Amino acid sequence: MMLELLTACSSSPAKKSSNSVSKSSSLYQELEKTPLPKHLPMPVEGVSRGQLVDTWGNARSQGRSHEGIDIMAKRGTPILSATDGFISKISSYGGGGNAITIVGYALSQHYYAHMDRFGKYKVGDEVKVGDVLGYVGSTGNASTPHLHYGIYLYPNRVATNPYPYLR
Ligand SMILES: [Zn+2]
Repeated sequence: MMLELLTACSSSPAKKSSNSVSKSSSLYQELEKTPLPKHLPMPVEGVSRGQLVDTWGNARSQGRSHEGIDIMAKRGTPILSATDGFISKISSYGGGGNAITIVGYALSQHYYAHMDRFGKYKVGDEVKVGDVLGYVGSTGNASTPHLHYGIYLYPNRVATNPYPYLR
């Protein structure tokens, strides 16, 4: 089952992203000047650091490699924001299924995919660490419930492995 999951999960956020919060806002400026911590809180409720498996770079279909970490959890488990920031995108199409992108510290982008359903937020809303973004599911190209979590660094949107941040 794990193998099936790993080959299926090839989600990545849409290349185009718009910042839904004004660059002159105090929130944006605060995020811009705050470095991304070396250690981030677990984005899935009840998962311990020791349970994580580093799935970064695993081969995916069409020559892609895995740009994130898959965190296994039961359907309906709350997904928690790993950063303060604001919601820059909410989408319900493509491989990521129900997915949210958050702009956080140092304007890094945090991508949460395959949600069963969303929490209460809309694009532009401010979120804090631990806020419930949605609930674990298998929407999009996931074959079993898990959170796909990706981190993309500013300014070039380079994908970086979330595993060292979470362990
Ligand atoms: Zn994944």
